[in-house]
Amino acid sequence: MNRKGRFRRTLSHEFAEFIPEQLREGVLYVSTTYATAVHLCCCGCGQEVVTPLSPTDWTLSFNGETVSLSPSIGNWSLPCRSHYWIEDNRIEWSGEMTQKAIDAGRSKDRQLKAAYFDVRRAPGEEQPPPVNATAASSEILDAPDVVTKVGHDGPFAKLLSWLRSFTSNGRG
Ligand SMILES: [Zn+2]
Repeated sequence: MNRKGRFRRTLSHEFAEFIPEQLREGVLYVSTTYATAVHLCCCGCGQEVVTPLSPTDWTLSFNGETVSLSPSIGNWSLPCRSHYWIEDNRIEWSGEMTQKAIDAGRSKDRQLKAAYFDVRRAPGEEQPPPVNATAASSEILDAPDVVTKVGHDGPFAKLLSWLRSFTSNGRG
């Protein structure tokens, strides 16, 4: 059984008012009317992955050609437990993004903590605009999630390295 084709690297997108009943693999369906995106899990398991679009759920960005979803898609409730990012219609499997995500999370975390403790230490001084703190903290909520759930030595990391041994075969 050849499984290496199951883990796709790209998606296309379709904007539609209604999400069709029959979803095609490799298509991210976006209903702006219902502020929801739906796709079949990119691992090929065929499960529907529903990502509501809201300030506290996912953010979809469309640059006129490609779409991105953030934060990452962690299908912890599915048997496959796949985890990936959709960025410019490309699928970045989380193992390839872990270090980047960790670094981004850590740096944001440091900045936020620094700002927070500065404010606490010097209550008389001018405080940073609260809107910045809100935006940063909502991003930060995702970063530790990625870090804790995709550990360097966890079973998921081992699975990913196993998967990579498949995807690297025959690509060179
Ligand atoms: Zn899956």
